[in-house]
Amino acid sequence: MSCDFLALANAGVQGLSPYQGGKPIEELQRELGLSHIVKLASNENPLGPSAAVLEAINSHSSDIHRYPDGNAFSLKQALSSLLTIESAQLTLGNGSNDVLDLVAQVFLGQGSSAVISEHSFVVYSLAIQAANAEAIVVPASNWGHDLEAMAASVRDDTRVMFIANPNNPTGTWVDEAALRKLLDKVPEHVVVVLDEAYFEYVDESEYPDGISLLSQYPNLIVTRTFSKAYGLAGLRVGYSVSSPELADLLNRVRGPFNVNSLALAAAEAAIADSDYLLQAKAVNKAGLSQLEAGLDKLGLSYIPSVGNFLTFEVAGGDATACYEKLLHQGVIVRPIGVYGMPDHLRVSVGLEEENDFFLAALSKVL
Ligand SMILES: *Cc1c(COP(=O)(O)O)cnc(C)c1O
Repeated sequence: MSCDFLALANAGVQGLSPYQGGKPIEELQRELGLSHIVKLASNENPLGPSAAVLEAINSHSSDIHRYPDGNAFSLKQALSSLLTIESAQLTLGNGSNDVLDLVAQVFLGQGSSAVISEHSFVVYSLAIQAANAEAIVVPASNWGHDLEAMAASVRDDTRVMFIANPNNPTGTWVDEAALRKLLDKVPEHVVVVLDEAYFEYVDESEYPDGISLLSQYPNLIVTRTFSKAYGLAGLRVGYSVSSPELADLLNRVRGPFNVNSLALAAAEAAIADSDYLLQAKAVNKAGLSQLEAGLDKLGLSYIPSVGNFLTFEVAGGDATACYEKLLHQGVIVRPIGVYGMPDHLRVSVGLEEENDFFLAALSKVL
């Protein structure tokens, strides 16, 4: 008889299923032997890495036998001047995903709860479950976060609220007035995590900059990432900005060298390469319009998005079949049944020719 390790695992872990990312290109190549594959499944930056970033990685590669700077002095300096904050307000993560886990680890456990929205980023529920806390899932309104209902759902045992702005996979966003109203209502014993993974893409005038709200709301933690607009998804680096007091707590549970030395150097170079960021935003804006126009032409409805992705409804309701057929055309998009949206697919904005390839494939399979 072998030991029942499942029964020995922490209660939260017993009920977990692993996060499922977008299908990797190599996997589809192995399965179907296709030569031309377009992956629009993980909201990655279609531009590829910036030349300045590659140079920084090359010049630091001879130091990889050393541990990285665990306090990331240099990158924190660069972020501090970029964001006009103090270094002590920063917590670096192995992707911002890591920081979301740190928040759960610090504030959640058996007997506590966290508030999230229906259709919100699935990593929140995984982090809550892993901590063996209870998720309070608030019904969405027009696919987006219903901030009034979220504020009203806070209980005495609630310690954390996660808000994605904009949200993935819906692309919906909340404006500054609504966010302030929520922050005014939520008691201070609830840490509000404002996930701004797509911050750099958003140009809407009423879109709030969470970092500017930190001085008024000591229970606020803003997370951002280098994975999307900065094009460093494969290196895993993200961060949070909060009060120094909250940052100190997060840093107590942070892995000692959670961001590797090449990622640190790359992120710093990425901050300095403002041209790349501008280009990324321009390509995204054009690509979003291209995808919207293409879906309009096919008569498909989609949820208006301010991110680098678009979520559309598959007529007839067979999104899984559509996803599979697209794979056979060499196009990888993202099924989002696990987000409670079984009739939708999410497509990331690609380069012009990639968007065209996707739209042509979609037209063929419908
Ligand atoms: C992509 C994404 C992240 C960032 O993930 P990283 O771990 O930084 O790569 C965080 N939140 C949301 C909503 C996302 O879509």
